[in-house]
Amino acid sequence: MRLQDKVAIVTGGGSGFGAGIARKFAAEGARVVVADINGEAAAGIADQLGGMAVQADVSDADSVRAMVADVTQRFGRIDIMVNNAGVTHLPGPMEEITEDDFDRVMAVNCKSIYLIAREIVPLMKQAGTGAIVNVASTAGVSPRPNLNWYNASKGWLITATKAMAVELAPFGIRVNALNPVAGETPLLKSFMGQDTPEIRAKFLSTIPIGRFSTPEDMGNAACFLASDEASMITGVAMEVDGGRCI
Ligand code: ADP
Repeated sequence: MRLQDKVAIVTGGGSGFGAGIARKFAAEGARVVVADINGEAAAGIADQLGGMAVQADVSDADSVRAMVADVTQRFGRIDIMVNNAGVTHLPGPMEEITEDDFDRVMAVNCKSIYLIAREIVPLMKQAGTGAIVNVASTAGVSPRPNLNWYNASKGWLITATKAMAVELAPFGIRVNALNPVAGETPLLKSFMGQDTPEIRAKFLSTIPIGRFSTPEDMGNAACFLASDEASMITGVAMEVDGGRCI
């Protein structure tokens, strides 16, 4: 039980990687809060895990404030924060991505990190401990064509992770990132544009291990970074990508 009694929020926990992370955390003894803009999805996963569900939009300051207040009211603290909620725009030439899509990607993938940090960092500083795991992407290390502004948002997240890590280390707070390659989740279709056997095979051919990342892969990696086993590890962006970024 590597996360026994730790209070952990997982954003975007209602689906895909986030649900895999929430499952693994619960299996390791954590009290898991599944936060998602899709309240039904959050409740579905939380029910399976005996966890708490919160409907929250991570790009909205009031919603983030309410989420953190709900969790601290119930548990009195937050030990682990997994910033996993993310969106992409449909693939396309960079000059054709709409301003609305650009703004949405930046708000959900980047601004949310600031909004959440504003609420949880003071609590973690007061506690003198905390672990933050940001779910970035291989796209932030090795951008693919046509995912332009999504790639850039994940590059921002990797740098934000390092900036947070160096500033928060003296307070006992560790901050790391995970860089998954695409998973077999609803986001995959957005990455590929169309889900045809040919496009899927082409996508897979770029991953040396020959398969997509799974929610279990992400749960295992996030659990390690969030646990005391990683007590000397901060500011890393760890690939969970079957070798795609080699
Ligand atoms: P992934 O491959 O990253 O797991 P998914 O689309 O399966 O992709 O999961 C992303 C999750 O993030 C979804 O459950 C979605 O509802 C959630 N999400 C998207 N935008 C927000 C947001 N603004 N606030 C909270 N959760 C969000």
